[in-house]
Order: sequence, then structure tokens, then C-alpha cells
Amino acid sequence: MKTIGILGGMSAASTQTYYKVLCDETRARLGGLHSPDLLIRSLDFALIENLQMAGNWQEAGRILNTEAQALERGGAELIVLATNTMHKLAGEMMGGVGIPMLHIADATASAITEAGLKRPGLMATAFTMEQDFYTSRLVSAGLEPVIPGDEDRAETHRIIYEELCKDVTTDDSRAAFEKIAARLVEAGADCLILGCTEVGMLLNAGNVAAPVFDTTLIHCERALDWALAE
Ligand code: GLU
Repeated sequence: MKTIGILGGMSAASTQTYYKVLCDETRARLGGLHSPDLLIRSLDFALIENLQMAGNWQEAGRILNTEAQALERGGAELIVLATNTMHKLAGEMMGGVGIPMLHIADATASAITEAGLKRPGLMATAFTMEQDFYTSRLVSAGLEPVIPGDEDRAETHRIIYEELCKDVTTDDSRAAFEKIAARLVEAGADCLILGCTEVGMLLNAGNVAAPVFDTTLIHCERALDWALAE
């Protein structure tokens, strides 16, 4: 089994999900007392969020690069960056790093194309929905992402930062997310990407009327495929 290096804490709420899913999935696949071989680096999200808000992506990229190099030195053989948004800095993060990273958008795009679907709705942070670092990778994979309207994007972003990243879930926000998802399906989405690693705290196959692709779960499954491959 190879060692997976998780660069997380963005937020800590979803990094806990990565750890739990990777442990459960390893036990399901290998049985017995097996557990995944992991290095988890969990950053202080307040620092990262301040840099995001200030638009200081250069400093954020420098931090991610330092941490990715530390994971490599610590023995990681694959980098898993446990946030969709910070994939904006994937190139900066991997500068001078000799091990591969598993890009969350590419992993998600292949899961969708393998399922024969084409027009994924995307619920994520404003950065991920509005800039092209993420959607362009979906388009390169032959997909046609459907983005929520202005108000729905603002509400999705607000709930992610004000609640989900603080490990808070409420019935009101779940209802709001369900409505936004339903509007994406009405707008022609044939499936839904939970394109922020915390969105699965509110949405899943049980409350969305289209196939759901949870980036956290896909990222964990594909990382484990890689770690367990001969
Ligand atoms: N975890 C989130 C994501 O997947 C948002 C937090 C962040 O900005 O990193 O995009």
C-alpha cells in the first residue's frame, strides 16, 4: 500500500470526512484490521481564508508549496489537496514537488464521463463556480457545466463559509441547498457536482433529483485505487 499525503484543514470539517471515508473504504476493500497509510497535514483555515479574501493568492500558493514539499519529505507518495477551491493553486503547489497529485476536478470529471453523463450542475464556492481554473478542466473532459444564477451562487458561498466550514449544519440551509440543486436540474443539469468538500454535509443522493457526484468521496476512492494498485 502506498502512502497518501493529505493537505487539508480547508476546512477541518471536510478533512475529518476524508479521514473517515479513507479508513472505512480501506477496511471495506481489504478487511481485517487494515487502515490506510496516510500523512495528514491540517492547516489553520482562518489564515488561508484571510488570504483568499485579500486576493493574496501568491502567499497562499507559497504556503501550499511548502506544505506539499514537507509531505513529500515525510514520505507521501501522492498528494491529495482536500479542497476544490485551492486547486486554483495546483500549479504553484506542485512546483519542485517530485510526487504526483490527484486533481479533484479531473477525478470528478472521469467519474461523470464513466457514468455517461454530460451536463453537471456545480455547487461550490464562488471562486470555483466563477473562475475558470475548475470549470475549464470539466470542459476539457468534454463536459458542459451548469452554474447557478447570481443569488444562488452567493447563497451557496455564504453557507459554505459561514456554516459548513465551521461544522454547522441547519435545516434551513439544507432546504436552501435542495432548492438550488433543483433549479440546476430544471436548468438542464443531468447530474450534480458537490464541488466543495463540505457540500456533502447537506446534499446527497437522497435529496437531489439527479445523480450526485460528491468530490470528497470521489477523491478518496480514486486516491485509494491508486494507493492499492499493484
Ligand atoms: N472546502 C472547500 C472547497 O472544497 C472550501 C474551502 C476552501 O476555500 O478551501 O472548495
